[in-house]
Amino acid sequence: MPDVVVGLGANLGDPRQALAGAVRELQARYGEIQVASLYRSAPVGGPPQPPYLNSAVRLAAARGEPLAVLDACLAIEAAFGRTRSGVAHEPRTLDLDLWWFGGEEMETPRLTLPHPRAHQRRFVLLPWRELMPHVRLRGRSLDTWLDEVRGQPICRLEGPQWPWTH
Ligand code: AMP
Repeated sequence: MPDVVVGLGANLGDPRQALAGAVRELQARYGEIQVASLYRSAPVGGPPQPPYLNSAVRLAAARGEPLAVLDACLAIEAAFGRTRSGVAHEPRTLDLDLWWFGGEEMETPRLTLPHPRAHQRRFVLLPWRELMPHVRLRGRSLDTWLDEVRGQPICRLEGPQWPWTH
C-alpha cells in the first residue's frame, strides 16, 4: 500500500475544529493513520489574511488510486464549507493537499505529484518530516529543502497528540 501524505491547512472560521474534523474524516476512510504536530504559519502570498493552522496526515491508500484520494480530499473540504472564488492563495475554511503518493510522479490537469510547491513551503516540510523523516523529494532530503525556507515564519503549537480525537 503506498505511503500517502495529505497536508491540512485552514485560516477561516474555526481552523482547529476544521483540521480535527478533517483528520477524523480521513481516519474514517483509511483506517490507521499517523498525524503530525499542529503548527501556526504565516500566509504565503495572496491578499492580507489571518495566519494558518497546519498539520499533515500519513495514511495507506490503494495502489494506483491517487485520484481517489484527491476526490476524498475535495469532498472533505466541501463538507467543511470550502468555497473557491478563483483568487489564488485566498483564505480558506479547509485546504487538503496531496503532497505525496508513494513516490509516484504525474502531471495531469487534475493532479500533479509530488505536489508542485511542497518543497518551497516550510508549513509543508516541517509536518511532513515528522511523518517521513527519510523521504527524498525531488532528489533531496526534506532537511535540505528546509534549509532553503528558513525565513518563513511558523511555530509548532502542539505535538502529534493535539486534540483531533474529540
Ligand atoms: P487549491 O484550490 O489551491 O486547493 O487547488 C486545488 C486543485 O488543485 C484541485 O482541484 C486539484 O485538481 C489541483 N491539484 C493538482 N495537484 C494537486 C495535489 N497534489 N494536491 C491537491 N490538489 C492538486
